[in-house]
Amino acid sequence: MIKKMDVIIIGAGASGLMCAIEAAKRGRSVLVLDHANKAGKKILMSGGGRCNFTNYTVEAENYLSENAHFCKSALSRFTQWDFLAMVQDRAIAYHEREHGQLFCNESARDILNMLLDACHKAGVKIQLKTAISSIQKTVDQFTLQTETETLACESLVVATGGLSIPKMGATPFGYQIAKQFGIAVTPTKAGLVPFTWLATDKEKFAHLSGLAMPVSLHYQDHHFTENLLFTHRGISGPVVLQISSYWQEGDSIDIDLLPSMDLGQALHQAQKDKIKLKVSNYLAQFLPKKLLPLLLSAEVLDLFLLDLSHKQIDLISEKIQQWKFKPNGTEGYRTAEATVGGVDCHAISSKTLEANAVQGLYFIGEVLDVTGWLGGYNFQWAWASGWCAGQCV
Ligand SMILES: Cc1cc2nc3c(=O)[nH]c(=O)nc-3n(C[C@H](O)[C@H](O)[C@H](O)COP(=O)(O)OP(=O)(O)OC[C@H]3O[C@@H](n4cnc5c(N)ncnc54)[C@H](O)[C@@H]3O)c2cc1C
Repeated sequence: MIKKMDVIIIGAGASGLMCAIEAAKRGRSVLVLDHANKAGKKILMSGGGRCNFTNYTVEAENYLSENAHFCKSALSRFTQWDFLAMVQDRAIAYHEREHGQLFCNESARDILNMLLDACHKAGVKIQLKTAISSIQKTVDQFTLQTETETLACESLVVATGGLSIPKMGATPFGYQIAKQFGIAVTPTKAGLVPFTWLATDKEKFAHLSGLAMPVSLHYQDHHFTENLLFTHRGISGPVVLQISSYWQEGDSIDIDLLPSMDLGQALHQAQKDKIKLKVSNYLAQFLPKKLLPLLLSAEVLDLFLLDLSHKQIDLISEKIQQWKFKPNGTEGYRTAEATVGGVDCHAISSKTLEANAVQGLYFIGEVLDVTGWLGGYNFQWAWASGWCAGQCV
């Protein structure tokens, strides 16, 4: 017996649940399949358990994609204000952190429960622990084979997410479905992920583990100013996660350890003011003392400010404000918060999220080549793309 639905959604995560709610509200029969034992696992672990569910400012510039305009349509039709209205209707307490990031006061579970209750109310069926072994398409329907049954639907929505955190259920299944139907997948890599030390740096920097400080990171024409955290394996913290999504293997990044000052100018001024300090003591006012010998030689640190030449001032400024850091690599999908790359957006309608060449096949959320910055942008993309597809499936 073939179980027939109007819509089958593969993936009971952020985008899949949002799409299911909207489609079911339109009267479509909706089945959500997931191989995991629980729905929305990434929602539960997000934002340190408090889910950074959206951001007060959401622009296309907050996303990476080979098709930079693709995300605009969905983001403008289901905005951060629309999601916030759902949160407020449900009376979920939330707060703003820096850069407009919105978090639950209590728990990410509040967001997941809101979505699951809305699914239940709209009549969505969610079937967990279900692996799909094959998908076939005939002219007007898709047939899916699971271990125990054959399912059929008019609209098939792929909401399988990215590759990050495999132990939470991430798989490349969505990319395989795309390829099966002749849809290109852009190269994928871990995004929003810490950098690891080169072997030679590891010994030098390991004792800084635990140190956190605000810095600016510059890579190509991208730059972010936020906290950096030294770890025993490399560097992490929000500023590192942000730049990691842009970084290409083998490249260096520039670190400005004093983003709120012009060190060259300050050193010249200190000379004019006849400040009788050694370089080490002067810099220790602004930077952790144990960092200094790793950046400047003992001879330079021991000089008096008044004895510094112009060239030496330039050198000190360069070492501290343009510290060239070469990562060995990243921590990879094991700890990444996002996947960069994915199903090629050129093959997908930005309005409906349907594949241009395969009627009835939709891709939403992180499986697509749309990657948000840290700060609630990935969830906003999941909600927006899921909502838009939900109006059409
Ligand atoms: C640790 C961590 C913290 C994060 N914190 C935030 C945050 O605070 N704010 C933010 O905006 N973003 C955050 N993100 C990113 C955000 O979680 C994702 O971008 C978002 O969940 C993507 O939604 P999605 O629906 O595309 O995929 P997911 O939510 O990942 O859902 C995909 C679903 O598909 C299922 N699936 C996968 N393969 C198969 C298969 N073969 N068969 C059946 N089912 C399958 C999975 O089990 C999963 O349930 C975080 C990510 C991580 C890893």
